[in-house]
Amino acid sequence: MPNLTEYAEAGRQAVVAASIVCREIQNNLDAVRTITKDDKSPVTVADYAAQAVVAMVLKEHIGEFVLVAEESSSFLRDEDNAAILSAVVAAVQEVWDDATADSVLNAIDLGSGDTSHHKYWTLDPVDGTKGFLRNQQYAIALGFIEDGTPTIGVMGCPNLAVDMSMPFDERDEHGCLYYAIQGLGVWETRCDDGDAPVIHITRLDHVETEEISVCGSVEKAHTNMSDTDRILDWIEENGLGQAGEPARLDSQCKYAVVARGQADAYLRLPARKGYVERIWDHAAGCCIACESGAFVTDIFGKNLDFSHGRGLEVNKGIVCAPPRVHGLMLRAIKELGIGQPKD
Ligand code: AMP
Ligand code: MG
Repeated sequence: MPNLTEYAEAGRQAVVAASIVCREIQNNLDAVRTITKDDKSPVTVADYAAQAVVAMVLKEHIGEFVLVAEESSSFLRDEDNAAILSAVVAAVQEVWDDATADSVLNAIDLGSGDTSHHKYWTLDPVDGTKGFLRNQQYAIALGFIEDGTPTIGVMGCPNLAVDMSMPFDERDEHGCLYYAIQGLGVWETRCDDGDAPVIHITRLDHVETEEISVCGSVEKAHTNMSDTDRILDWIEENGLGQAGEPARLDSQCKYAVVARGQADAYLRLPARKGYVERIWDHAAGCCIACESGAFVTDIFGKNLDFSHGRGLEVNKGIVCAPPRVHGLMLRAIKELGIGQPKD
C-alpha cells in the first residue's frame, strides 16, 4: 500500500488535472451558459468534470480507494440532460483524450463511497460555486481522512496568485496549489502544471504590533458578518489589538490564505441556526492550515471531528488562526456569547 507521501502526490496530480479542466471551462463560461441556457449549468459542468477527473487520476495512481465526493451522476444519466453530459465529456477530454460518456459517468460514480470506512478521500470538486461564477476564487478541494482526522489536504486554487500582493478578486494566470501531509508540513506549487517545482512553506506568525487581518465568506448566508465585526470591535475596545477591514473571498482558499500568512484568521460564524458544515468543505483546508501551525477549531474551541459521516455534526462554525490570534478570537466569542442559545 502506498505511503502518505505517494498518496499526496497522487492527490496533487488529480487536483492539477481537475484545475486545468476548470480553468478551461471558466475561460468559456459564457459559451457554456449559452449551450445550456441555465445559470447553474456551467458550474454543474465544472463540478461533474472535476469530480470525474479527480477520480480517474486517483484510480490511475493508486488503484482501489474510497472517495466520498459531493456530486452524483444521476442528473447526468437523465436523458433530458444529455446536452450537459456532452459538455462534461468535452471538458474532461481536455486532460483525458479518450473519455466517453460511459467512462465519465463511471468515474463520477467512484465518488459515491461512504464514510463508514477507516480511511477515505473526500472531494469538493468545485468549492465556492458563487466565486466560480463571478470569475473570482474557488477551489478543488481533496482531503484524505483517517479515523476522523484529515491526514492529507490538497487544494487547487485556480484563480489565486502565489504573489500575495495581488487582489483576491482578480484571476491569476496560473493559480496555485497547496498540499499538506500530517506531521510533514505544507507545500506550495502551481495548479496548472503537475511537474512544477514545489516549495515547502512556513507560515509567518502574526506580529503583535500589526493589524489583525481576518478573512471570511463573500456570501452573507455562509457566515455571520455582524458577529465578525463585533469580535473585532471587542478586541480593539479591550486594547488587545487593532483590526483591519476583513477580506472576503469564496471557498476553502481562505484556509490557504491563513496557512501562507496572508491573513491572521479565517472566521466562519454560524449564520443559520442548525446548519451542519460538510466534510468536503473543510477536510483539505483544515489539514493545510494545521500543518502551517495554525489552530483549526469550531467557535467553542473544539477540534473539527470528521468521524460523524458527511457532516461536522458535533462542531459549530470555524475559527482558523495561528495560536495567539486563535486564543483572542475564542475569548471574544465567549465574552460576546456568540453561538449561545439566545443567538
Ligand atoms: P464559502 O465559499 O466559504 O462561502 O463557502 C461555500 C460553501 O458554503 C458551500 O460549499 C456550501 O457547502 C456551504 N454553505 C451552504 N450554506 C451554508 C450556510 N448556511 N452556512 C455555512 N456554509 C454554507
Ligand atoms: Mg463546497
